[in-house]
Amino acid sequence: MEKEEGKEKRRYIYTLTKPTLSYILKKEMRKTEYYDKRGLTMKRDINYGLMGKKIGVTKTDFDVWVIQIKNVTCYLIEGKDQAMLIDTGYGRNDLKRVVQGICGLPLIVVNTHGHYDHVGGNGYFPEVWMGKEAFSLAKKKRPKRRMPYKDYKVLALEDGQVFDLGERQITAYVLAAHHESSFVFLDHNSGSLFTGDELEGGQVLLNVREDNLAYKDIVRKYLANMHKLKEMEDKIKRIMASHNGYCLSPSYIDDYIELCEKLLEDKATLMANPSGYWFPAYLFGGKRKLARVEEAKASFVYRKEKR
Ligand SMILES: [Zn+2]
Repeated sequence: MEKEEGKEKRRYIYTLTKPTLSYILKKEMRKTEYYDKRGLTMKRDINYGLMGKKIGVTKTDFDVWVIQIKNVTCYLIEGKDQAMLIDTGYGRNDLKRVVQGICGLPLIVVNTHGHYDHVGGNGYFPEVWMGKEAFSLAKKKRPKRRMPYKDYKVLALEDGQVFDLGERQITAYVLAAHHESSFVFLDHNSGSLFTGDELEGGQVLLNVREDNLAYKDIVRKYLANMHKLKEMEDKIKRIMASHNGYCLSPSYIDDYIELCEKLLEDKATLMANPSGYWFPAYLFGGKRKLARVEEAKASFVYRKEKR
């Protein structure tokens, strides 16, 4: 079953014949909408907040599978000989079964960073690549009993490391400001940049690092990272984020550069409330502890005392 929506052809996994996957998708949960965040066109799977244990799977027309697990988006990239899974979600779902239902290729599993909503399902796989700063976080919570690889092997990503999936190459780049362990992944074939939480559709959180780095120091790192992305701009057609939408325009990078520059000059627009796109007001101490700034379509949340 296929339907056209904009230029995107979408195929739902429940049309695959594997009976084991039949529980995964409910048709009504897979409506995807294009929406506009103050002029930034992106896509978002609606209803994902209501999905519970369900996983939504969508195939894009550039051969990337979008795997929506509650509010986290994981991705599967298929090459000729191997496939790459980017992030493993919360670990409440049998992600291996889902991935095997999509393709039977040997799998490379990578984490964008060590936060629990990206590494939770690592125990379904024998080995996972991640930044070395993510090792202790990823192993902090032991994989649940039903996961087959409780002592899965962690492998350290290097900046510029290339994965050859067979006629499809993915390069991993260090891009760490939201968290010390962050990597982004560039799929050279489709021009998709997988950014984890370093660039996401709603807002970038700068209050969730392990270290006590001063707020403006994080912003300086972030700005340097955006310039790193600008240097490869001609290779980027779209940004695939882990939260709040995917297929973001590369112009989003310019908005974040503008936000960083204004922030460093204390000229960024301070919002009345830290809550925003699927980011509730009470999280991380809410209004008492957090502040939000916005410029163009870019938005940061940070700890007030760190400014
Ligand atoms: Zn994160």
